Amino acid sequence: MQSMTIDMTYPVSEGGDGILATIDRVCKEACEAAKSGYQFLILSDRSVSPERLVYTLSSNPKNNHYFWYIVLSWIGDIRVMPYGGGKRCVEADARSRVPVSALLCLGATHHFLIEARQRMKVALLLETGEARILRGAGIGVKPVSGDDLRERSRVVVLIERDFNRHALPRVGVLAFLEGGGGVLLLRLLARERVPVPGPMNQGLVGAEVHHMCVLIGYGCDAICPYLVLETMFQLRKEGVIDRYLKDFDVFGNYAAAMERGIAKVMAKMGISTMLSYKGAQIFEAVGLGPEIIDKCFKNSASRLGGITFRHLAEETFDRHRIAFDSKECDSLILRNPGFYHWRNGGEQHVNDPLSIARLQEASKSNSPETYRQYVEDAIKSIRACTLRGQLEFIPSEKPIDLSEVEPASEIVKRFATGAMSFGSISYEAHTSLAIAMNRVGGKSNTGEGGRQNNHIAPLKNEKNKELMKFCESPDRYLYHDPEYNLRSAIKQVASGRFGVTATYLANSDEIQIKMAQGAKPGEGGELPGYKAKAEHITISGHDGGTGASSWTGIKGAGLPWELGIAETHQVLTLNDLRSRIVLQVDGQIRTGFDVLIGGMLGADEFGFSTAPLIVLGCTMMRKCHLNTCPVGIATQDPILRRKFQGKPEHVINYLFLLAEEVRGYMACLGVRKFQDLIGRTDWLRVRKDVSGKSSFLDFSAVLQNASSLSPDVNIVAASVPQDFQLDSRLDSVLIEKAKDVLEKKAKKVDIEMEVENSQRTFAATLSYQIALKSLFGRKFGEIGLPDHSINIKLKGSSGQSFCAFLARGIHVTLEGDANDYVGKGLSGGEVVIFPPKDMGEDFKSEENVIAGNVCLYGATSGKAFFRGVVAERFCVRNSGAFAVVEGVGDHGCEYMTGGRVVILGPTGRNFAAGMSGGIAYVYDPHGTFKKKCNTVMVELLPLLFDEDIQLVYRLLIEFYEKTDSQVAKRILDQWPHPTKKFIKVFPFEYQRAMRQVQGRALVYQGSRSLSRQGSSISQTDFLFPPGSPTVKSGHEVHDTAPIKDIEDVLRDGHIERQCEFDRGFVKYRREIGVYRPAETRMKDWEEIYNFEHVRRGLRVQAARCMDCGVPFCQSAHGCPLGNIIPRWNDFVFHGEWKEALHQLLQTNNFPEFTGRVCPAPCEGACVLGINEPAVTIKNIECAIIDHAFEQGWIIPQPPKIRTGKKVAVIGSGPAGLAAAHQLNKVGHLVTVFERNDNIGGLLEYGIPTMKLSRKVVQRRVDLMAEEGIIFRTNANIGKDIPTKEIYDGYDAMVLCLGATWPRDLPLPGRNLNGIYFAMDFLETWQKTQMGTNIDFEKYSAKGKKVMVIGGGDTGCDCIATSLRMGAEEIKTLEILPKPPPHRGSDNPWPQWPKVFKVDYGHDEVKVKFGRDPRLYNTMTKEFLDDGNGNVRGVRTVKVEWRKDDRGRWEMKEVEGSEAVHETDMVLLAMGFLGPEKDIIDQLSLQLDPRSNINTLDGQYSTSIPRVFAAGDCRRGQSLVVWAIMEGRQAAREIDLFLMGDSSLPGPGGVIQILHPQG
Ligand SMILES: Cc1cc2nc3c(=O)[nH]c(=O)nc-3n(C[C@H](O)[C@H](O)[C@H](O)COP(=O)(O)OP(=O)(O)OC[C@H]3O[C@@H](n4cnc5c(N)ncnc54)[C@H](O)[C@@H]3O)c2cc1C
Ligand code: SF4
Ligand code: SF4
Repeated sequence: MQSMTIDMTYPVSEGGDGILATIDRVCKEACEAAKSGYQFLILSDRSVSPERLVYTLSSNPKNNHYFWYIVLSWIGDIRVMPYGGGKRCVEADARSRVPVSALLCLGATHHFLIEARQRMKVALLLETGEARILRGAGIGVKPVSGDDLRERSRVVVLIERDFNRHALPRVGVLAFLEGGGGVLLLRLLARERVPVPGPMNQGLVGAEVHHMCVLIGYGCDAICPYLVLETMFQLRKEGVIDRYLKDFDVFGNYAAAMERGIAKVMAKMGISTMLSYKGAQIFEAVGLGPEIIDKCFKNSASRLGGITFRHLAEETFDRHRIAFDSKECDSLILRNPGFYHWRNGGEQHVNDPLSIARLQEASKSNSPETYRQYVEDAIKSIRACTLRGQLEFIPSEKPIDLSEVEPASEIVKRFATGAMSFGSISYEAHTSLAIAMNRVGGKSNTGEGGRQNNHIAPLKNEKNKELMKFCESPDRYLYHDPEYNLRSAIKQVASGRFGVTATYLANSDEIQIKMAQGAKPGEGGELPGYKAKAEHITISGHDGGTGASSWTGIKGAGLPWELGIAETHQVLTLNDLRSRIVLQVDGQIRTGFDVLIGGMLGADEFGFSTAPLIVLGCTMMRKCHLNTCPVGIATQDPILRRKFQGKPEHVINYLFLLAEEVRGYMACLGVRKFQDLIGRTDWLRVRKDVSGKSSFLDFSAVLQNASSLSPDVNIVAASVPQDFQLDSRLDSVLIEKAKDVLEKKAKKVDIEMEVENSQRTFAATLSYQIALKSLFGRKFGEIGLPDHSINIKLKGSSGQSFCAFLARGIHVTLEGDANDYVGKGLSGGEVVIFPPKDMGEDFKSEENVIAGNVCLYGATSGKAFFRGVVAERFCVRNSGAFAVVEGVGDHGCEYMTGGRVVILGPTGRNFAAGMSGGIAYVYDPHGTFKKKCNTVMVELLPLLFDEDIQLVYRLLIEFYEKTDSQVAKRILDQWPHPTKKFIKVFPFEYQRAMRQVQGRALVYQGSRSLSRQGSSISQTDFLFPPGSPTVKSGHEVHDTAPIKDIEDVLRDGHIERQCEFDRGFVKYRREIGVYRPAETRMKDWEEIYNFEHVRRGLRVQAARCMDCGVPFCQSAHGCPLGNIIPRWNDFVFHGEWKEALHQLLQTNNFPEFTGRVCPAPCEGACVLGINEPAVTIKNIECAIIDHAFEQGWIIPQPPKIRTGKKVAVIGSGPAGLAAAHQLNKVGHLVTVFERNDNIGGLLEYGIPTMKLSRKVVQRRVDLMAEEGIIFRTNANIGKDIPTKEIYDGYDAMVLCLGATWPRDLPLPGRNLNGIYFAMDFLETWQKTQMGTNIDFEKYSAKGKKVMVIGGGDTGCDCIATSLRMGAEEIKTLEILPKPPPHRGSDNPWPQWPKVFKVDYGHDEVKVKFGRDPRLYNTMTKEFLDDGNGNVRGVRTVKVEWRKDDRGRWEMKEVEGSEAVHETDMVLLAMGFLGPEKDIIDQLSLQLDPRSNINTLDGQYSTSIPRVFAAGDCRRGQSLVVWAIMEGRQAAREIDLFLMGDSSLPGPGGVIQILHPQG
């Protein structure tokens, strides 16, 4: 066998054009190789390589350049030029190579070879590094970040791909292309070529299944994802992967995960063999232009057209740059760009924190104004993420008045909630939706099952005593109180296994059969396609699905609903079928805009799922599958369900606000009735301002107006009924014969009939009638009829679905045989089938098939006896029926969840796959069963327990009596001897559930497990695996001691750890004692924190974090830096401090500052804070960085190259320091000018040492100096040094001047002695502390009565400082009212909680003087003179705050409330008005209306070229964390300005190459 490797890379120097030439070359080389007799063609991207570094050595002989010349030249990837002046630059030459996407090359080659008739001669193998690593099916490693790898291996590879913005294909070609874009980027800093992978901070747990699928789907024969494998090898080598795993395990697990994932995708698409899947091209592209499709994906649909090779190449180059950028700085950290979970600064999601918060606020308050703000924000995300967002309405020339538009109450009738079952959401959430939809006249959807589990007691709410009666049984359908109607109009059948009973189905207005669902096609919906004569079709978009959706189903699966609804409407109209069908659309419909677009594309109705759940309190935590939902929605846990705060009224508010939005649009469009806009695509057009890649989309197919093609076709939905010809069915006769029983005129009826195989679903309509009676007459309920009420004897061969959903009380005996689906959904009835009695003596029923495939699928109760063998998939998803059969085909009892099955003969293979409940008893006289059973989820045991033996015996007797089975007779004749030949198939999951029910106190009975051959494992052993309870003598089983704290849990291994981590917030309280006791701390000037205590509890505190899908702690309301809080928490919990540090440093330059002084808006926005104390964040942040310093991990990291650009930073506060730090990282030479004698700004001379030690500030300043930043103190720019001098001497300057201009209180007596600005007081004292020779005496508070005016944080610092100085009395005056103890309705989560807080200074005053120093509602009127020009007191008056008619706050003095407060010293702490003006005036900078330096929104460049501004001088008085954020982003903008692009991280630490245009 001959093989040839073909290179898929090309020189960087060829630029964007190289992509096409390379694809052509690869195709040609492949074709020639095939013709020359090669059989294996390996397309490889291994030759990817960086741009070369070119060193020019200094001509200074001291540098020993000959030595370096030799060393550097020896390192092959670096070119060295002697005597060049000591510079370093990057050169793109022929040895720098970028890859073409493996998929592009593969697809093109595959088609090229087909056309050249060479494809059959060769196998196409791929050697590619494009495999993306992310959380998946588990190779069992812990997440890592890349710095460790860099340090140890000297090699870092990374890259993450931007892969979904326009990637919306059915199985996602574009996702792959954009994502991969041919980018496998290795960074080889030395000769050692050891690649390490990309976004591992998502958890290295599996490569993306989708990539493999799409490669196979476009013809690949084998894939070597070498980057993944080498990564795993490397991680193992470095001990990052769980040390208990061996390389072999890791590779094996990875391969198994891939295999499983690929098989699942194939199954979803209905393809069972790899051969059929390979090259099948079952993909649709969204956003790929014809040139790409024609060359690489011939004949694949790409309805919207889209981008070209050039775009793909550009993106490839950007990624190449990030990976190989000579300015490595932050790009060496592996990052999570937020594809799956929202992340600050990352990929945009339709549900971002801001819109979630606004939606909740709007629906709770029913406020049109808040709703308008919500829509404003939501539309931005819709535009960024969806197809519909690219469209707009064409304004009508004849708008109408709003009053002429049909009322909102009519529009809401078109609304439905999505299919969300009781399993997926709590009883409270489920019923709230049902009640809301019934009240508005819309429809709620049960989701499959929709049953209350009996063992879950419903919680109390308003109406609950009465409701409880109903919700505990399916009779809740009968509860029709109009205000609290729990009935869901739509009953869904998804997999047909969760309680799909006759009553369930009968009690519906619509039965919805799920065939595929956008976000996870087929998952839970792998039902055969039905020819159903549907009356209603729901088009479900690709972006639906719950947080429980598997990661492989979230991306690259499904299509946008815009395509689906438009095509469905067009096709139905063209075939004149539209009038018979109601079309519903769903998938992230959240605004009236979505509804209008859906309607114009052809939808009649609209499904809402995520939005109403958000309204009920969902925060998109995306942990639905873990049963840990903190707001009581996606959980069955009674403790968590108590946290549910949603109300049906909120949902109703939302639907009506949305309907009003729809009405507004309708008025503008001049439409009176919604029906009149359905299908009016001619009122839509592509937005004029669409830019970027979206502008390449062609919407003409979507916007084709179907009615203009078929003008006279009726498109009014459901105006023509479907004809189901029900009267002609055999069931009509049956119902007639059973009429007396149905009408309760008779107790029993015996019916005899003949049946033919053309008659399908025999007795299903009769069962429906019984269920219906239960519905309206409450006569029978789910219980059905008494046993043997309707007895039917049949002869013949039945058609498909014989006795489907057979209701209790109906007994059917068939002498003959049956087709597929016998007893599907059996609902309490009994089916007996035996062969004709006249078959003769020799006929052996056990050797003949009596019924077809899939019998008893999804049966819920009842009995079935088959004398004979049934075909494949017997009892699949049975949840409660009892059955006896003489033999079954393959896949018996698959996914069974309940019931009992006795099998008296052979089984096919794969028995019990996915079986989680119920028990099967298999008679196995020849010992062959074990090999055919899939034992992943089941244990095979002998028949030992009495209850099992008795059950089997009773069923055998009954079976024999009803069918005359000779097999049963033979067994019974020898009873009990044959019990030894029975195997009990007992699912582990079922065992676990039973253990729970039995309270873990079972009687020990020794027995032997059959599936663990050779060992003598007792039945108790399998019930109680090692480590849980202990088995004591006396046969009693007890639990071990309960877990007291997390340290105990940690000893119990990973699984328990994870479990505790997931539920940490339920188990652990928030630590509140973070300060040293006030009594002791007020006596010194040391930091107030109790570090030791805080650290001791940190892991417990970290365990409270829920790793939210939408981490509000990082949102706009939360951490301004977008700190990746859940990641550190996870690492801290697992004791991975270094990894935690890497996460922290991605976003925050100085966590040692914020960890001490930040007021932690993150905690105010934490999801946990909705109904309990938020996660501790700030203390964990502080502990991570302090630990890192202690460990010596924080060392100076000077940049390896210098750009030669000089930047001046004016001001050394946190903004200036952050800007300098970032700019220095990318190699600019930074000088920081500070007018004070020390560096640090307010960190140094504002915030007191008790909050932030000067040593901590100095430590950082020293590090930065060692990294090459130049600090110049006592340099007052604009005074000591002319601003122009700096401006002219530097390539750019950034002003970080702070907002140091204090707000004054110009009242009578203001110029008396003893009245100071807070900053003068604090700064002077801090300088004195630092040893500066300064006259401090007048500022001393010792022995004085201190009055602080202003109740904010600066005021608190003044209090704490004067207290430590020895003040005699301290008071604070605050003009505003005292904040409430809890959030007000105008201050909802996740806003910063404006509640009463006791800060450290207040607490200390209380301890010392016995009362809180703050006086609220107090206005200062005058400073009083002691007669010597010193202040002696302040005169005040009380004020009241009221809202005026327009809702604005109004202040009023309270008559007679004047008072005089004695004081010797007044400190004015009322905030700041902006920066000082010297520099501003000298540069003639523009100011904003608040007198801060003016820049464009979200930008940092000022009105003067080359001058930038950041921090308090730009945004006004703010916080340290904001200053750092501004400094970082200003640095990025400056880098872009100086270099033409920037790879510095953007908001949230996400790296994306920034180009000048944006
Ligand atoms: C008393 C007090 C306590 C605070 N406590 C907290 C807290 O606990 N937590 C928190 O998050 N925030 C706190 N803040 C706010 C926080 O300190 C500021 O928001 C933050 O320091 C602003 O950073 P900055 O870099 O923009 O400006 P600053 O820190 O104000 O730094 C500006 C620097 O520029 C220098 N400068 C100005 N003009 C010139 C010039 N012409 N030439 C040379 N140098 C110049 C100044 O001397 C100063 O050092 C507090 C503020 C005060 C006043
Ligand atoms: S910097 Fe402040 S807001 Fe951000 S995580 Fe730390 S404490 Fe929270
Ligand atoms: S800190 Fe709070 S908001 Fe952030 S991820 Fe953890 S629980 Fe969620």
